[in-house]
Order: sequence, then C-alpha cells, then structure tokens
Amino acid sequence: MSSSGPVSPQSPPVDGGRRVVPAGPEGMIDRAVASFLGVAVGDALGATTEFMTPSEIREKHGVHDRITGGGWLRLKPGKVTDDTDMSLCIARAILEKGTFDLRAVAERFAAWLRSSPPDVGATCRKGIRDYMLKGQLVSPPNEWDAGNGALMRMAPAALFSLGDDALFERAVIGQAHLTHNHPLSDAACLCAGRMVHLAIRGEGRSRLRREADALVAAHPDFRFDPYPGEASGYVVHTLQTVFHFFFSTRSFEDCLVGVVNRGGDADTTGAIAGMIAGAYYGVAGIPDRWRKALDPAVRTEVEASGAHLLRISPAFGRPEAS
Ligand code: MN
Ligand code: MN
Repeated sequence: MSSSGPVSPQSPPVDGGRRVVPAGPEGMIDRAVASFLGVAVGDALGATTEFMTPSEIREKHGVHDRITGGGWLRLKPGKVTDDTDMSLCIARAILEKGTFDLRAVAERFAAWLRSSPPDVGATCRKGIRDYMLKGQLVSPPNEWDAGNGALMRMAPAALFSLGDDALFERAVIGQAHLTHNHPLSDAACLCAGRMVHLAIRGEGRSRLRREADALVAAHPDFRFDPYPGEASGYVVHTLQTVFHFFFSTRSFEDCLVGVVNRGGDADTTGAIAGMIAGAYYGVAGIPDRWRKALDPAVRTEVEASGAHLLRISPAFGRPEAS
C-alpha cells in the first residue's frame, strides 16, 4: 500500500456507527490530533487497570470507564505514564529538529530516564542505558525484545511521516530499534502506523481491516479472530487485544472500554487502541469527559503536537529535509 500523494478533498461519509469524517486537510488534522490525544486518554484510562485480570477489574470497578487514576502506580486522576511520556519525547525531538533525527530522540529518552520515571519497561531501560553508556542507537536483535514498548510510543513517527513511506519506515523502525529489535515488534509498528495513515486519510473500516489481515498473513501469531483473550505486554497479545476491540466495536468509547477492561498491560493496550481509534473516529469521537479529565499540560501538548506533526508531514507539502 502507498500513503503517498497529495491531500485530496474527500466527501464526508459516515462509516457505520458514530464516525463522521470531515473532509480535506482540516479533517486530517483533526484525526491526527485525535490520534495523539487517544494515546494519552487510553494511557490515563488504562493505568487504573494495568496488571489486573478481567475478573479483578469487574470485582473492583464493575466496568472501568472513567479516568480516575490509581492503579499500581497510584496515579493522580488524569496523569499519564511512560507510553505518553515516551511519545512526547519523540514528538519534541521531531518538532525541535523539523525532521526525524534518531540521536535527538535518544537524547530525549535519556533525559526522561534521568528524571526517574516510576514505570520504565525493562527493555526500554536497557536500550536507553546502552545509548547513554555506549552511544548505541540500534539495539542488537534479541528474542526478548518482542514487547510492546516500541509500538506504544510510535504515534508521532507516524503522524509526521504521512505521505512518504520511506520516511515513515525510517522513523518508525528507527525509534523502535533504540530499545526493541524484533521482527514481530517491527511488523506491529509498521502495521499500526499504516492503519493510522489510512484512518487519517479517511479510509473506512474494511480498508484498515485489510492492513490487519495482511499482518496476520505475514505473521500468523497475530491472529486475533477469534480473540485469544491475552492482553499482556507481548506485542502479539497487545495488538490482538487492540484489533479485537477496534474491529468489534463502533465507537472510540466502546473500543477503549473493551480494551482497558481486559487488564494486563492495560495502559499500553489503551494507548495503542487510542492511537488507532483516535485517528479513525476523530476528536468528536473521544468522550469529552475523558478529554477534560486529562492533565491539562499533557492535553495541551498532545493536541498541539498532533496538529503540528501532521502540518510538517510530506502529505502537507513539506518534503523531508534530510
Ligand atoms: Mn505505561
Ligand atoms: Mn503498560
């Protein structure tokens, strides 16, 4: 598939459910904003149920559908975790340089690690430490690197590369290999990023489904229909959970509620579902109570960067500088 080509005006169809697709560049920017906002909303919502089982969640929350903080990190309501933090590192590095500069991303990750965040994944920590100690920008392939840590933070790399598939692959895989170098992680990142691109361009559910089905054809481990039910930090379980709820629901809210109530790596499945469902349903699809519950500084930054990243993308006529 190719996401290259100019921004074309689109008729505003309604794709089942509650999706309204505003036409033209403003509609695309809306969906880019919603994609990054979706990362933060899903992260904040899912942090409450991270590492819980579905039955523990039912017992404690009934259906968890409010941003209330808590969870094992004892978050204040509206606070986000490493998923959003690392996404913002990438966004700031891209916006600072006006392009994708791997070393700038690594520097942002290093500064973030030095700030002693409470929830750094083991593979992320190792990769960032290897950069800090050895200047290593590409982690060697490792069979243990098939976690979801590269997938959870890739939204900015997808947004700013819309319209240039080579730039997209360089940015998405470049940021991934700083910490995670595994074919299943790579394939998951590329697939999710392509789905974000398609959704921003206004494509419908069946076109996104073809992208997910292509991933399953290439890597049958990712088969998600019927849903195997695991929601761990293994990138296969993570994407199965995201795809199952994205394709079996008809709103951003139902998708995210389904995902975070599976528990497991719920903040991360929430962030990734939010990235794809946000790009698909747009800002109007994100419940206002969730948007308003987000930490205001985070909300302001993800919304501004989502728009800014798309405006500097090749699809908006800004060819890659380097
Ligand atoms: Mn997290
Ligand atoms: Mn997590």
